[in-house]
Amino acid sequence: MSHFIIIGAGQAGSSLAAKLRDDGFEGHITLIGDETAPPYQRPPLSKAYLLGEMPRERLFLRADTFYSERNITLRTGAAVTAIDPVAKTVSLGADTLSYDQLALTTGSLPRQLPASIGGTLDGLYTVRTLADIDTLEPQVRKGRRVLIIGGGYIGLEAAAVAAKQGLEVTLVELADRILQRVAAPETSDFFRALHQQHGVKILEGVGLTRLLGETCVTGAELSDGTVIEVDFAIAGTGILPDTRLADPAGIACDNGIAVDEHGQTSVPGIWAAGDCASFPHGAGRLRLESVPNAIDMAECVAANMLGAGKTYVPEPWFWSDQYDVKLQIAGLNIGYDRIVVRDGDDARSHWYYAGARLLAVDAMNDPRAFMVAKRLLAAGKSPDPAAVGDPGIDLKTLMR
Ligand code: FAD
Repeated sequence: MSHFIIIGAGQAGSSLAAKLRDDGFEGHITLIGDETAPPYQRPPLSKAYLLGEMPRERLFLRADTFYSERNITLRTGAAVTAIDPVAKTVSLGADTLSYDQLALTTGSLPRQLPASIGGTLDGLYTVRTLADIDTLEPQVRKGRRVLIIGGGYIGLEAAAVAAKQGLEVTLVELADRILQRVAAPETSDFFRALHQQHGVKILEGVGLTRLLGETCVTGAELSDGTVIEVDFAIAGTGILPDTRLADPAGIACDNGIAVDEHGQTSVPGIWAAGDCASFPHGAGRLRLESVPNAIDMAECVAANMLGAGKTYVPEPWFWSDQYDVKLQIAGLNIGYDRIVVRDGDDARSHWYYAGARLLAVDAMNDPRAFMVAKRLLAAGKSPDPAAVGDPGIDLKTLMR
């Protein structure tokens, strides 16, 4: 009987295993994860779970019995240390397992601050795993002072939680503005103002020179020469695709594990999906870091492991929760040259255009704009920017 092994028991790995069974695969499936928890969702880690508003059990993606009922062998707390693509085996410590096909869903790793600037001090936290949050959460107490390094979504969500819990929050962003890598200036302005209303001190164009402290973070020296005292720090400095197994196994990597349009790597029979995988897009390659991409790509790969020959075409979307604002993003804004702002009473949306072509929308507390934009993008339609910018025009009419 065939044996399919999936390395990485996160969002993509768990979706891939489930889809293999849904599509009728009757062979052995082994899903291997190095974390001790069963597959869980990460988004609440920097939102409701860190706030203490979501119990741990609700993080888990499937019920306890899901895997055994579907005859999926789930091995948690087990790190794969090497792949041998010629012998078709994977090593787990002293164990060696043979596979017929292999999927890599190893996710990504937070960028670490160098030790030379205090990256190994106690009191510096990252926000990636459940274990990270379990060590960070006791620090998030009223009156404490935190430095957040990086003004991307993870850093901003952590700042929102800390401010809501009554901490004194300073966030530094080396780029000229928060969210610079992922959003238009209008969206940065919106979130800067939101955080400032909640008392967060946002410093843009300011980097961390080094964290201060003998063994534990007590402060920070910033690139503008300022020295601040803090009780702890959170690094939200982005992630890198986890290619630690693929690279030494000779599997081609290019901004992640490079796959073809079907999700297959440079080695036939070895596939990849989720945060760790870059796939062909236009003239180059694209790697997405989102739950919808992890699920959709994993499901496409599962079908292709069974011979479906499907092309992976992402329909990118994303969300972020900060205070009472839900940001929903549809599409990819790469290459935009113009932003159309649609301002409602409590809702606001930013529409990204390249010429007359709609690329993406950031919708703030505007689920309607998000839904309409998603449908427009899926249909390849680009509404007249003048109509989009007129809040008197019903969004639904844009679909015509
Ligand atoms: P992961 O879920 O990271 O799973 C990969 C797993 O593989 C990990 O458990 C890893 O430990 C394991 N692994 C790696 N190497 C090995 C090995 N050698 N042996 C065994 N196991 C291994 N996305 C959104 O769309 N919306 C959000 O609001 C959002 N918020 C987020 C908030 C936080 C705090 C974080 C961290 C992420 C957030 N994301 C969000 C991103 C989203 O969670 C990821 O894109 C998604 O989890 C990617 O799924 P994945 O399966 O590719 O990787």
